Amino acid sequence: MQAPNVIGGVRLPDGGGKTVRLRRGASLSDFAEKINADPAALVQALFNLGEMVTATASVPEETLQLLGAEINYVVDVVSPEDEDRELLESFDLQFGEDEGSEEDLERRPPVVTVMGHVDHGKTRLLDTIRKANVGSGEAGGITQGIGAYQVPLTIEDRERRITFLDTPGHEAFTAMRARGAKSTDIAILVVAADDGVMPQTVEAINHAKAADVPIVVAVNKIDKPEAQPDKIRGQLTEYGLIPEEYGGDTMFVDISAKQGQHIDELLEAVVLTADAELDLRANPEMDAQGLAIESHLDRGRGPVATVIVQRGTLRVGDSIVVGDTFGRVRRMVDEYGNDVEEAGPSRPVQVQGLNGVPGAGDNLLVVEDDRVARQIAAQRDARKRSAQQARSRKRVSLADLDAVLKETSTLNLILKGDNAGSVEALEESLLKIEMDDEVELNIIDRGVGAVTQTNVTLASASDAVIIAFNVRAEGKATEEANAEGVDIRYYTVIYRAIEEVEQALTGMLKPIYEEREVGAAEIRATFRASAIGLIAGCMVESGKVRRGASVRLIRDGNVIADNAKITSLRREKDDVTEVSAGYECGMVLSYPNIEVGDRIEVFEQVEVPRT
Ligand code: GDP
Repeated sequence: MQAPNVIGGVRLPDGGGKTVRLRRGASLSDFAEKINADPAALVQALFNLGEMVTATASVPEETLQLLGAEINYVVDVVSPEDEDRELLESFDLQFGEDEGSEEDLERRPPVVTVMGHVDHGKTRLLDTIRKANVGSGEAGGITQGIGAYQVPLTIEDRERRITFLDTPGHEAFTAMRARGAKSTDIAILVVAADDGVMPQTVEAINHAKAADVPIVVAVNKIDKPEAQPDKIRGQLTEYGLIPEEYGGDTMFVDISAKQGQHIDELLEAVVLTADAELDLRANPEMDAQGLAIESHLDRGRGPVATVIVQRGTLRVGDSIVVGDTFGRVRRMVDEYGNDVEEAGPSRPVQVQGLNGVPGAGDNLLVVEDDRVARQIAAQRDARKRSAQQARSRKRVSLADLDAVLKETSTLNLILKGDNAGSVEALEESLLKIEMDDEVELNIIDRGVGAVTQTNVTLASASDAVIIAFNVRAEGKATEEANAEGVDIRYYTVIYRAIEEVEQALTGMLKPIYEEREVGAAEIRATFRASAIGLIAGCMVESGKVRRGASVRLIRDGNVIADNAKITSLRREKDDVTEVSAGYECGMVLSYPNIEVGDRIEVFEQVEVPRT
């Protein structure tokens, strides 16, 4: 009889009721490392519970807890948000809270996202608002596409401001929300009066509601003769957006983004909605905190990131950490292209001086000094890498335990792209590729900007292929890649990249054949035999020649026949299967036009083991 905790020769651990903290998405290997156990033991334990998972696959929270219970551990799964909070706390920092008391809070402008169905006029509206602001005293108006802008307006003789996120659509909004970042105070829902409520209109409403963001409805294209603004009001009522004039609390404004009609009224409606429904105040007198909303690598200026300050005041010279990047604010530019020295709550500015490109939705904190900034960034980076690693390993469904414990064949990739968005999109699409159980896709690194020597070094160390999307290799990277045999693949369309990776993955499953030369012979004479045609009298010069083998016929250095066969092989009068170097033999080839002096190269296809 086996002891109950020893199965298949693997001793299962026993936690004795201890608590172990695991990050969300942890694998059995991570778990094993925490409790100093053999990962195979945990694979076993989970197998006993009827679940088959490889050691490196990311495991759902319930499964971790179930497994914990089986081996007597209490599993405490920590969310990335909790983890980050703890990290900041260890530096005596916290994100998201205004310091001080009520008296320290001052009113701040609302931050607005424009949402709605495609072609209903989101982009046009943002353009019109940007241009309408030419009269703000800034010559030339808003010229810099920094991803956000602020416009002034006067309501009841008071100057007010609104900050617009300049990226229409829901992706940015949801992407940021998915990271727990609340970037938006109010959503403007654009609905074309000549069209009506469409799928993305409904989607926008759902996103806004889920984020608890009030909606102002812009009924657009009222300049069109077929516009029916009242129909839109009726339709939206069904989604709980009831116009004020019908006794509801949603403001509707009929506009024409094209002709610039009623834009002022729309802006006013935003401010009034903010005043009525939200308490938008922040403490400007503290170390700044905010969110990155757009970032990219600029040729001349290095990483640039547009951030919206949420509380406090950001100043040139501040030490900042933004997601897993850090640096000191070297320069700040506003949407007019002007240098600014400081930016208070709700103010968007483009910041230079970071060491890398942060992601949309990453939080910004001003910290005591560069050292703290660097430490926080480094810890976040390490965490992100291990989380990404867990994520990029796909769960494999396998037929039996042997296979579970066996190593899988892996395609390692390094992704480089022109901006954070494209790299993310690429990564996501790649991870969606359906693949067989035997292969695994592992994205070991990703980043924005040209393919560097460092990328190549990493690729060579881990047998990875580099996927370069809209970027090229820089400096000595190409040279090094050639020297190291690293494959860099360039793409400008995402689906081509996906297609090729898909092919590579299926290719990995097929046996790989390699041509190997077995021997060579020279034709010294030819004889005609009525029954079989032309016989080649040969001298075997190296290796062996074999009956049935494939040969290549070379004449004066040119390949005459590429894939002929030795159909008959004789020594003296006897049929033989093989003749070695140094002997004469007679051959009949499937290729008839042979001549004296031709060289016969014999080769075979051998299957090389996959590595
Ligand atoms: P988006 O997909 O929501 O960003 O829509 P766009 O802003 O690109 O607008 C789609 C089309 O509708 C473009 O051809 C615009 O010129 C047009 N459009 C936008 N607003 C108006 C408007 O108020 N009146 C009219 N007639 N056309 C408009």
